[in-house]
Amino acid sequence: MARRVPVTLVCSVCGSRNYRTTRLQEVGQKPLELKKHCSTCKAHTLHKESK
Ligand SMILES: [Zn+2]
Repeated sequence: MARRVPVTLVCSVCGSRNYRTTRLQEVGQKPLELKKHCSTCKAHTLHKESK
């Protein structure tokens, strides 16, 4: 059964915690990786989810 879990998206370049969101947790799902704008890097960078 899927459930919503809160995740924080962290810039993979500078480590800033820029976004908070939720996603459905499913067994075997890979961690989120999204291109997002980072205000610290002032550019679009890859953001990875963090617990
Ligand atoms: Zn950054």
